[in-house]
Amino acid sequence: MAVLFRAGFSFIATSAVHAETRTVMTMEPNIEIENLNVSYISRNTRVRAVREFSLDLRENESVGLLGESGAGKSTVGWALLGLIGKQNVVTGEINFQGKNILKMTNRELNAYRWTDASMIFQASLNTLDPLITVGQNFVDLLTNKKTCDNKRDARALAWETMKLLALQESIMDAYPHQLSGGMKQRVAIAMAISTNPKVLVADEPTTALDTITQASILRLMKTLREQKKIRGILFVSHDVTVHAYMTDRLLVMYRGRVIEQGSTKEVITNPLHPYTKLLLSSERIGGQKEGVRAGASQDDVAPADGCPYVPFCPYAMKSCSESFPTARTIGQDHRVSCFLYDAK
Ligand code: SF4
Repeated sequence: MAVLFRAGFSFIATSAVHAETRTVMTMEPNIEIENLNVSYISRNTRVRAVREFSLDLRENESVGLLGESGAGKSTVGWALLGLIGKQNVVTGEINFQGKNILKMTNRELNAYRWTDASMIFQASLNTLDPLITVGQNFVDLLTNKKTCDNKRDARALAWETMKLLALQESIMDAYPHQLSGGMKQRVAIAMAISTNPKVLVADEPTTALDTITQASILRLMKTLREQKKIRGILFVSHDVTVHAYMTDRLLVMYRGRVIEQGSTKEVITNPLHPYTKLLLSSERIGGQKEGVRAGASQDDVAPADGCPYVPFCPYAMKSCSESFPTARTIGQDHRVSCFLYDAK
């Protein structure tokens, strides 16, 4: 645990350790993802980025997706916004208020994005039009999405929202390239919540920032959650410390699969899956990594239908290569997909 709370995040750590996991399980979900599978197609290659992913995201709940690069976390977020290109293969269902997003027309998707579901990208320039001022970016968004009837109301709402992110009014007349990375990211967050969406996908929103800016933005986002300015949130991050601070529930992903899930506190303090244990291990940097079989390398190939962790797992057995283990519930609401727990 100690390693999670080093590197200048002590205020986050303290809050996370003592934070109560909010009871939100009884509320109706805003978004229901059922057996989502996403494959990226490129020429003759097919990469299975997400497999058999299911999740209910409830109002006012913060759910985290944790895993390394290539785990499929961002793909889930993009699918939730209907942003997976048509050349790729997406199956399953993502239901929002009884409608499957995967079956929406372009017109329906345009109406759904920003107003029902918004996204904060790692690179906020993806959100802002660099050719117009920040204020004009807001006006275009809020009038196009009919959040506001006119330019004056849109500017007033923009300023109202920017104040929540501790931004100066002068920024309204600045162009995106004139802002620092931290300011751009705060503007992007302000835009994402200005339409009052029911669901917000935050895809590594602070990864590109320095530690101090990162901490201040996370603190602001947490306050916005407490004020209910941010409602349901899907938080994508490879950083356990960020999840400890920001999320109620955590899903650990590995090579497209959810391998463990539960309340954030439970998963972090009592990891079950060998990969999660490795991820959280203080021995991770340098030396022999706990849970890694001697001789295994990143190039080892995982079995097509078995557990994707086979090439690295010191406990791998024959059955691990034959099928992906069914998730077992251990304790209250803590689920793990690993054959080691089959007999328990
Ligand atoms: Fe290791 Fe098998 Fe468990 Fe996968 S299912 S983590 S290979 S023991």
